[in-house]
Amino acid sequence: MSELEPKRAIDDAAQESVNIPIEGPAPFLRQLKGFWVTFAAQFKKVTTVQYPEVKEPVAPRFHGRHQLNRHPDGLEKCIGCELCAWACPADAIYVEGADNSDEQRYSPGERYGKVYQINYLRCIFCGLCIEACPTRALTMTNEYELADDSRKKLIFEKEDLLAPLRSGMLQPPHPYYPGTDDQDYYHGRVTESHPSQEQK
Ligand code: SF4
Ligand code: SF4
Repeated sequence: MSELEPKRAIDDAAQESVNIPIEGPAPFLRQLKGFWVTFAAQFKKVTTVQYPEVKEPVAPRFHGRHQLNRHPDGLEKCIGCELCAWACPADAIYVEGADNSDEQRYSPGERYGKVYQINYLRCIFCGLCIEACPTRALTMTNEYELADDSRKKLIFEKEDLLAPLRSGMLQPPHPYYPGTDDQDYYHGRVTESHPSQEQK
């Protein structure tokens, strides 16, 4: 047997596979069928959306930009525990906690998040951070428009992430609602701010 023989056997096998008879309609009919698919597609409902003028609603549980939530009187829910940062597989969160005091209170309890950053150049929107948060301070919104023209702008600071002050909320720092403690906040017994909480 010559050295070339095995190669010839492969070539023969390839030739045989090329010559396998194709069953079904004649080639012209098959082409016609293919063109019909293209033609019929012109009359189907168009699913293209003229973004950004038109924005389709996303799924209710879509993972978009994060939000740092507040209690109903405006105090921050974040206690600076860093669990979100430890849970993040992309190392996208940086937290520095600090102590609350009676004069400078930002959140119920001992600590608050003094520095809070999320690097959206790293974030993969997996949601592990919001699962790790013990106070539901961190959640994700449906906002997905996060493109920008500089890398620096995609590192969001605490001010960028904090939920806006809604009606009945006061900008921290401010004291507890009169007659309450941190447990009342965690159990949802504070439902709005009190005039005495306003900082003079
Ligand atoms: S969504 Fe995932 S990647 Fe993004 S900050 Fe949270 S844990 Fe990190
Ligand atoms: S967002 Fe939640 S997990 Fe992260 S530091 Fe604040 S309280 Fe802790």
